[in-house]
Parts: sequence; structure tokens; C-alpha cells
Amino acid sequence: MAVDASLDARIREWEERLAASATSHPPLTLTPAWWQERLLHWATNDPDFRVKLLRFVDVLPTLRSARSVADHVRQYFRDSAPGIVQTASGLASQPVFRPVLSRAVRSGVFSMAHRFIAGETPEVAVPALRDLARDGVGSTVDLLGEETLSDAEADAYLGRYTELLETLSANAGAISPQGEQWSAVPAANISIKFSALCAHLEPAAPEHVSETARKRLRPLMRLAMRQGAFINFDVEQYRYKELVYRTFADVITEGEFTDLPHVGIVVQAYLRDAVRDLYWLADLAKRRGAPFSVRLVKGAYWDEERIVAAQNSWPVPVFERKEETDASFERCTDALLAAWPHLRPAFGSHNPRSVAQAMVKARNAGRQIPDIEFQMLYGMAEGLRNAVAAAGYRTRVYVPVGRVIPGMAYLVRRLLENTSNQAWFNAGVTVSSIAQAPSEERARRAEPPFRNAPPAAFFEPEERERVGASLARARRGFGTTYSLLIPDRRVSDRPPSEVRCPAEPATIMGHVAQATPEDVDMAVTAAQEAFLEWREVPAYERAEILDRAADLVERSRFDLAATMVFESAKPWHEAHGDVCEAIDYLLYYAAQGERLSEPRPMGDVPGEHNENFHEGRGVTAVIAPWNFPLAIITGMTVGALAGGNTAILKPAAQSPIIAYRLVEILRDAGVPNDAIQYLPGPGGEIGRALVEHNGVDNIAFTGSSAVGLNIIEAAAKTRPGQRNVKRVIAEMGGKNAIIIDDDADLDQAISGVLVSAFGYAGQKCSACSRLIIVGSAYDEALERLKNAVASLVVGSPDDPAAFVPPVISAYARKKIMGYIDSGRSYSTVLVQTDISHLNSSESEEASYYVAPTVFTDVPLNSPLAQEEIFGPVLSVFHAPDFEEALEIALNSTFALTGGVFSRNPRHIELARATFRTGNLYINRKITGAIVGRQPFGGLAMSGLGEKAGGPDYVRQFMQARVVSENTMRRGFAPEEGA
Ligand code: NAD
Repeated sequence: MAVDASLDARIREWEERLAASATSHPPLTLTPAWWQERLLHWATNDPDFRVKLLRFVDVLPTLRSARSVADHVRQYFRDSAPGIVQTASGLASQPVFRPVLSRAVRSGVFSMAHRFIAGETPEVAVPALRDLARDGVGSTVDLLGEETLSDAEADAYLGRYTELLETLSANAGAISPQGEQWSAVPAANISIKFSALCAHLEPAAPEHVSETARKRLRPLMRLAMRQGAFINFDVEQYRYKELVYRTFADVITEGEFTDLPHVGIVVQAYLRDAVRDLYWLADLAKRRGAPFSVRLVKGAYWDEERIVAAQNSWPVPVFERKEETDASFERCTDALLAAWPHLRPAFGSHNPRSVAQAMVKARNAGRQIPDIEFQMLYGMAEGLRNAVAAAGYRTRVYVPVGRVIPGMAYLVRRLLENTSNQAWFNAGVTVSSIAQAPSEERARRAEPPFRNAPPAAFFEPEERERVGASLARARRGFGTTYSLLIPDRRVSDRPPSEVRCPAEPATIMGHVAQATPEDVDMAVTAAQEAFLEWREVPAYERAEILDRAADLVERSRFDLAATMVFESAKPWHEAHGDVCEAIDYLLYYAAQGERLSEPRPMGDVPGEHNENFHEGRGVTAVIAPWNFPLAIITGMTVGALAGGNTAILKPAAQSPIIAYRLVEILRDAGVPNDAIQYLPGPGGEIGRALVEHNGVDNIAFTGSSAVGLNIIEAAAKTRPGQRNVKRVIAEMGGKNAIIIDDDADLDQAISGVLVSAFGYAGQKCSACSRLIIVGSAYDEALERLKNAVASLVVGSPDDPAAFVPPVISAYARKKIMGYIDSGRSYSTVLVQTDISHLNSSESEEASYYVAPTVFTDVPLNSPLAQEEIFGPVLSVFHAPDFEEALEIALNSTFALTGGVFSRNPRHIELARATFRTGNLYINRKITGAIVGRQPFGGLAMSGLGEKAGGPDYVRQFMQARVVSENTMRRGFAPEEGA
């Protein structure tokens, strides 16, 4: 950045002046303010205490009794906290101190919250706004609240924004500071969070989101226009940024709003895209022909952005060093000032340098004082704020208003900002220090050996365009006939079966030749012969072939996903997730097969050499379900191949086309044709024939418990000519429960339940079908769940806005409807999503949509509570305490997944120890296990075998051999390891 010397000198001069006035006086010892400062100081210097403090502040408002507060204080601060806090924790264990301790802690945290929150309601906040105005400072008011999970909650938010605007307008005189710099701007100014006005922020469906959000934005903007008020659009997480920008652009260019000057939007300088965003907004303002405001901030979601990016293997969208963000803020300042008069600048920062450079550069660019604005947060950097206002600049404070309970997320963000070493307001870093080389400890860590394939980033327009093109291409391929792929032949003269699209059952996607029992025989014989060669291929060569296959899958990931969108009614995200999981299996198991094949020396005794090594067992029959049509069949097949076995794939009748594509890819990558074969056909006939065949050595099955148990039984019988005891790996059904504890974060819990229970219409073995709510959380959780389910978007999987697709088949629909209909006779329907627009009366039979349904008053031993329904049906139970909730959860013969939403460390520990399911998830959804991170598989009647995506998976397809050699000849032996 070229900053000329005299400009830089002036910036430094201002920076020093501002920094000097920003230094605040220390609070008096032992006052509440002093305590707050101490806590923040401890938290800044002790990362462990910081986490505990943030977590405690987060949970406190939901603790409904003194006992519960005391209990949490004890659990959070028992060890490794500052002495005084530990003493409080000790007192908490004595009942006599509980009420007073609880009151003290509550009032302490609430007063800390009130430092950043002006009042519970707009009315109550007005005096604080008036005080600010008296000090020459304006305001923009933000409403704190819960996360919006339903249309009812979005409507309620709209009502609150309306009330806010009316209250502010009614008090406009009192809350407006005096001075020329205020003459051309409205006194009533609100900042709205887009996420509040729309229940489903689906980045893949910007048009839908914009349309839904605009329905609520229009009345608000009309009101603002009538009252001469200002509306600013806040920007939150990166993945929603495009949604906000797009909706903003759509609404401000609508006829009635094209001239409206009193609107604004945020640009976050910590984003690598920030300058580009400013160019785009400048362009929008030009096209619109009327200016709007831009509030340039650094950004408040820095930690979250980094975590989300790391979890998804996405590039980190934010600058990782504070200095880089400061530098970006300065580049953005230049771009923003250059966009005058189209963009009206507002600078939001607590850093004297950032403020100073904006002042000086604005003046340099010919801007007068009233042309620009500075913004800061309520309760922070008050010295700086007063200094900026005293210099005559329009200075506005961002004032949160709302109840403290839902406002805790805001408070935690502020505390995070105040206690982080990365704190944006930490003064003292200047542009001159930016050029310093990154310190050594920041040097990149070595790449980890295995990285998960990143899920599609649908917030990027290019990704969405690729989906559109792939869907169109897949449609053009409808009607193709798919042959059997046995040894060297493509056999298509067998009677075919039709594959229809579940979302449009009249559409035939393809015809798939059906194998006969003779084909099974032929395939097994060829696979046996091929095994003798494939087993001898060096493990690293097999791994290379599988890596190549991963590459081919990656290259056609959009086309493969499109096939699943149509064939299995998988919505966009789910279909892409399936492809990513397949890629992960290929790479992860390839490496595992290679590792296992390495001989391992055993023991360390002179005169003998012992070697333990693994090799393939033989022919593997892969019998797959339809619900993860690519991922699961890939996992089982690759597990076998990587371990040196040959494989014969029998896909589910509902999803044979994607399996065909997989076999083509594996063959293209170099797996010999007779080592990987494709035999579609009816399970009861072809699956059965494979299970019973005397030449099959391993059976890798995933599917229902009924079929799995049947296979285990059939495989146990030895048949004439059989050379191997069959090994069965069976991943089966689930009846999974989530517990919502009475101190759970309901925003997090309800959205976790929604995704777990209704994602892919509940057709996942890991899906949540039982929800147990503890104690006093019941009423609120139930109400929020009810509204959220009523607002679910049910629709065709090729529509990115759809969250719940149709179920897989007419048969599945009938079966699920059977559970719902009979459930009505012994339980109560809490809510059922309205899908009347999808199942029109004449086409109901031909359509596979099932309305998401939630039951309460469900008897514990009823079919709704015990049987796997495999559809969008959820039963809710009320437990008096956490221990009983666990008992209800464990009342099942299945034990696949389970979940707990709780902020009580003791309950989390208890669940860890006793909630015995294959996969237990704490404070997150219970679906979506990731290879290498959440190895997946059930206990009890849910499965038999090592975890898929885990370190031991491939081994079960292999047999271990040990070779021991006596190396001593005539009393002489070479040294081991020499
Ligand atoms: P399913 O049991 O009906 O069919 C699974 C496979 O078995 C299909 O390929 C089918 O053709 C074949 N099959 C059917 N009868 C057979 C027989 N007699 N002999 C041999 N093969 C036979 O299951 P589905 O409807 O395809 O899948 C849904 C089920 O799968 C659910 O129960 C779900 O919980 C389970 N599932 C489990 C996991 C897991 O990892 N635990 C993962 C996905 C799905």
C-alpha cells in the first residue's frame, strides 16, 4: 500500500491523539466494574479459564434454579481457575451458600451483559440512547434474539423490528444529537440481521432465500420510508454473505425503493474478498442510480470462520493475522472513499490507527466531516468514541437491545473479542509493522496424511452453476440401458428392470439388466480366479489404482451427484456429501490396505524371525442399500479391494445406476475387470445366491436388520465345495435418540434435531427418530420444534431450496404412512408439515412425498418408539431428569447413534460413559459421520463389524498370517534387524 510520507505523518499524529484520549481510567477496586475487569484479565491470560468463563456465561441464563447455578459453578470452576473463583466453586458445594452465591453470580454476569446491552426492550433502551445523544453520539439499534428456526419466529422478529422502528421514530427528537453533521441523516437507525427474517438460510438457493426474506423486508422498508428512518443490513457468517448481498441488491432495486437513500450494508475487512465486495457494491449503487451507505468493519466471526473452514477443508475466508486484517481495512478505506458519491462511508473500528487513517484519507480525498461516519460498539472503547465525537465527526454507536438470555451469544462474542489476543481493538499495531515476516511458530504445519474431500461450497456461484449443468446432462442421459458388468463382458440381454425417479415417478431414468443365478455362478468363478492375481499385486500398486479412482470420482463429482439427485431423490447437499464420502473411502482405505500388507516383525528373540502380515481372504460379495447409494457401496467395495480381495457388487434395486458408474470408474482406474464386477438383481434372489455361494469368502452387507440377520444365518451354513468360513460384516438399522437437557442451547439443539430427523426425509440409519427432552426445557423446546417442523421446505431434490425430499418409493411411502396412521390411534400428532401442494389428490398415489410428522404421548413400547420407520417421523418424550432420559434412550434393541445437547459437564460425562451406542454425538447433529474423524457403525442389533471409515475397517477383509523361521544354523544366528 503506498501511503505517502506526509499523509502517514498526519495519520500517526491523529492516531496518537486518539490513542491518548482512548486510555480509560481503571475502575475502583472491588466494584462490579473492577470484578469484570479482573475476570476479563484472567480470561485473556489463561486460555483454559477463558473457555470455562465463556461456556459458563453462555449457559447461565438457562439455569432455572439456585441449585443448578451452584452445580454448574462447581463443575465449571472446580479446577484450574483463579483462586477466588475456586473459592466460590467450593462454596457452591454447600447448600447453605447456594442461594446467595447464585444471586451474586447471576447479578454479576447480568451486569456484565448490561455493559454491552442497552435494555430489554426498545422502550427501556430509549434513555440510554438519549444519554448518548446528549454526549453528541448517535445510535443504530440491533435486536438480540434467538436463532430463527421457523417462519413463526421470523414473523415474530419482523414484529419486533416494526416495534423498534416505531419506538425510535416516536423518540426521534430525543435520540438525535445536535450538530451539522447530523442534519442530513435520520435519527432513527436500525441494524437488521438478515438471518432473523428468514428461517432457512440455504446458500444453494439464493433466489428462494431472497424471495422469502423480501416478503418480510418490504413492509419494514416501507415503514422506514414513511418515518424517514435508516435500515442497515448486517452481514454475519461468510457462508451467508452472498445471500445477504443478493437480497440487499434485489430489494433496493425494486421500483418503490430505488431512490431510498437511507439504507446501508456491511463490508467485513477480515474477508479476503473485502475489496472485491466493495467494488461490487459500488457497481450496484451506480446501476441503481442512488447512493447507499457502507459500514466497513473488521468482522465479528473470526474464530467461527476459521473453525468452519477447517472442519470442511475449505480455504479460510478470513485473514489469519490481525495485522493483515488491519491492512485490509486500510485498503478497503481507499476503495470505499474512491466510490464516493455512490457509497456513503461509515467506519466501524475501535483501533485508533484504523480510525485515524480513515479521517485523514477522507479529508485528503476532499470529503467534508459530515460526509463520513464512525461507528463503535455500545459499552466498548468509550474514550475513543468520545474523542472522535469531540473532533466533530458523526459518531454512532451500535446498540444491542433485547433480553439477556437470547443475548448471551452476543455477550459471548463481545467477551471473546475482549479476551482474545487477536482482539481487534488492541491498539498499537500500525501499518509499518505489517511487512514483518510471519514468526516461525506460525510457519505452516506439515500437511496431514489424510484430508477429507471438501463438501461443495454452494455459496460460491460457480459451484451452483456446475450443479445446474450436471443436472441437465443427467437428464439428457435418461432412458439408457445398463448392462451387467461381469468379467470382460457387458451383458445387456437379460430382462431389464426400470429405474424411476422418486421425485417424478412417471419418469424412467434407465433400464438395468437383471442378473440370473447362472450369472452369479459365472461371476464368482471369475472372481475366484482373479483373486489369485489381485492378491499378489503389491499393496502400493493397489493403493495407486484406488487413488486414481478417487481422482476420477473427484473429477466427475457433480455428474455423480446429479445421478443421485434423480435416482435416489438426494437433495444437492446430501448428494455431494455422498460423493465426498466415497472419495474419502477410496483414499483412506487405499492407505490402510497398504499399511496392513506390510509385514510386521513380532518379538525380539535371537535365533528366530517372526513375521505377522495380512492378505486378502478371497471373493467379497458387496450387498448395498440405496440410501447412501455411492458412499456405502464404495466403502464396502474399496475395503475389500484395498485388502487384496476381489469384489462383486450387488446394488440395491432402487439405486443400481450410480453403482454402475462406480464400477466403470474403478475399472478405468485400473482394477481388472474380473476383480470388480457388477451384478444388479433382486435381493431375495441374487443377493441370496451370492450369500449362499460356496465360492464367496466375505459378505459385506449394509441394510436393514431383518435382512442382515438373515444373511448372518445363511452364511453360517457350510456348503459342499466351500473352502472358507464366510466372514460377514453387517451394518444394520437404528432407532436413534437425542436427549435435550434442561440447560441445552435450544438454538443449537432444535436445529440439530431438525437436520438429524428430517434431512433426507429421515432415511438414514443414523437419523434421529426419538427425542427426549429433560425437565423444564420441555415446553419451550416443543414449541420451537413444532414451529420449525411446520416451516420445513418439502420439495423436489433438484430444487436447492428443498430440505425434505420425497421418500424412495411407493412401497416406502405406504409403509411410513402405515406407522403414521396407526400412531394416531395411540399417540398425539404435535405437528405435521403441510405438503398439500405436493400431493395433489389425483396424483397422491403416484407421488412419494411424506409430510414430516412429530408425535408426543408415545408409549415406550409402541411401534413408533421401537421400530425403525426410515421416514420423516419423530417421537418426542418428556423425562423428569437426565438419568431417566438416558434410560428412555437406551430402551431399544438398536444402538447405532445417539445424541446429547447439554452444557452440564457431569451429564456429558455420564452420557459418555453410559449412553452405549456405536456413535455418540454431543452438542451436534447425529448424522453425517466423516471418514477418519467419526468412524461409523453400530452395536447390539445395529451391526457387526469394525467401524466404517475407521482404522480397523480393511483388516476385517483380510486374514493374518504369521511365518516363523528358526534363523540359527549350527549355533550361529544373524542379529535381528541387522
Ligand atoms: P434392505 O435390507 O432392504 O436391503 C439391503 C440390500 O440387501 C439390498 O441390496 C437388497 O437387495 C439386499 N437384500 C434384500 N434381501 C436380501 C436377501 N434375502 N439376501 C441377500 N440380500 C438381500 O435395506 P435398504 O432398504 O436398502 O436400506 C435401508 C436399511 O439399511 C435401513 O434399515 C438402514 O438403517 C440400513 N442402513 C444401515 C447403515 C449402517 O451403516 N448401519 C447404513 C445405511 C443403511
